Amino acid sequence: MEVRDLRFRYDDGTEALRGVSFSVAAGESVGLIGPNGAGKSTLLLHLNGLLPESHNAPAAVRVDGLPIAPNNLPDIRRRVGLLFQDANDQLFCPTVFEDVAFGPRQLGLSDSDVAQRVADSLAKVGLAGFDRRAPHHLSGGEKRRVCLAGVLACQPSILILDEPTSSLDPKGRRELKELLHQIPLTKLIATHDLELVVELCTRVVILDKGLIVAEGPTVELLSNEPLMLAHGLDRPHILRHTHPH
Ligand code: ADP
Repeated sequence: MEVRDLRFRYDDGTEALRGVSFSVAAGESVGLIGPNGAGKSTLLLHLNGLLPESHNAPAAVRVDGLPIAPNNLPDIRRRVGLLFQDANDQLFCPTVFEDVAFGPRQLGLSDSDVAQRVADSLAKVGLAGFDRRAPHHLSGGEKRRVCLAGVLACQPSILILDEPTSSLDPKGRRELKELLHQIPLTKLIATHDLELVVELCTRVVILDKGLIVAEGPTVELLSNEPLMLAHGLDRPHILRHTHPH
């Protein structure tokens, strides 16, 4: 995935992205961090064309070499799986089966292929047998995993995750981290959970006020306390004993 000089202004004039460039190589896991309002969510929405492409600079975002142009959108959305921050925005069906089946159905698969994908994805997220359950009766951690199953069921090559561990209890957080660790896809993870970043991401991008202010190896950047403090972040406890060079 390649982002080059991406700029975006909301209708009210807010400049949310002011020229952002970075890339994520196949197989990499990259953390996207920064204070509230930095532009992280706005950036993620651009990566599968959820914001009107008319606002984009031409070819500012490419996925597997394809620019996010209207005629590429179905292809791009198949490749880029986006896990929303709030599971309730992603779950809207009466059963877990229907929710996970939604994406594969959009891809035009046959009923039996859809059923197979649902079963496989639920097994991957540790929810085999949850098909008939009502999503709104599940725990926060289970809901998040149903959403992830729905994304995986479309067999994307890149996973984009917006605050995947927010509002989860410690057990849910741990389970999700382990799960993400096992999923061998390219990942871009926007989060305030720096321990998640340390555990999952080899590289981080720090965004502040719509600009990338630093980019590099996770441990090096996250143990740079002045840098972290300057951008509304903190040095994670897990790195308290390491000393940057
Ligand atoms: P983050 O995800 O890092 O917290 P956002 O992408 O949500 O940052 O926000 C970036 C900037 O864009 C902020 O200044 C925010 O107030 C503004 N913003 C976000 N959504 C909208 C919107 N729908 N309309 C106008 N401004 C918005």
